Amino acid sequence: MIEKHYWKIKQAALDIDLCVVSKHHSIEEIQSYYDAGERIFAENRATELIFKAGTLPKDIAWHYIGHLQRNKVKEILPIVSCIQSLDNIALAKVIEKEATKLNRTVNVLIELHLADEDTNKSGLDPADVDMFTNFLLQECPHISIQGLMTMGPHTEDTARIHEVFAKAQDIFKHLQETFGKQYFHTLSMGMSHDYPIAIEHGSTMLRIGTYLFEENEL
Ligand SMILES: *Cc1c(COP(=O)(O)O)cnc(C)c1O
Repeated sequence: MIEKHYWKIKQAALDIDLCVVSKHHSIEEIQSYYDAGERIFAENRATELIFKAGTLPKDIAWHYIGHLQRNKVKEILPIVSCIQSLDNIALAKVIEKEATKLNRTVNVLIELHLADEDTNKSGLDPADVDMFTNFLLQECPHISIQGLMTMGPHTEDTARIHEVFAKAQDIFKHLQETFGKQYFHTLSMGMSHDYPIAIEHGSTMLRIGTYLFEENEL
């Protein structure tokens, strides 16, 4: 079933990609968004991703979001089109090694950690992002950098959310100027509760779960 929030999001995001975050949701629920025309879906568990990818249509671009254990890379690599949560060199080395074996390149977004108040510690310290980008460009020919991913802070304080997304946009622009837009064209930010703010700060990809799968007042 398509939730009515879907149409609101589509209207707000005419030039923006929608990544449907389908974690915890059934094949039937996902299929209804596929039938509506969506082709980018994201999961955060390897087992669930493998099952869903095996069952749903083959032209879905599966994105991996959330913490990725190094020992899961081999399992998901034949399936994923983009890993949105690349944030450390050890993980990059494993992805590079496994992608080499498969003779493919894998798209990635570098995940930045910008909301210091959150206990979720995933994401790279922004101070290290130039160094990390250089490492990927020089050492990982099977990894194709597409841009950045980040999470807004978990708060009701919209001024603080604005601050974090503005910082992400600044860093994104800096990276575009330093390394080129061919590597930094995607800025993945904005979830159910903060996507309008993310759009104001230049998001090019929203990752929405809750509002697409649970009935919410508009
Ligand atoms: C779950 C999740 C989302 C979607 O969040 P909603 O609030 O359900 O829209 C987006 N990004 C990441 C990394 C997630 O884990």
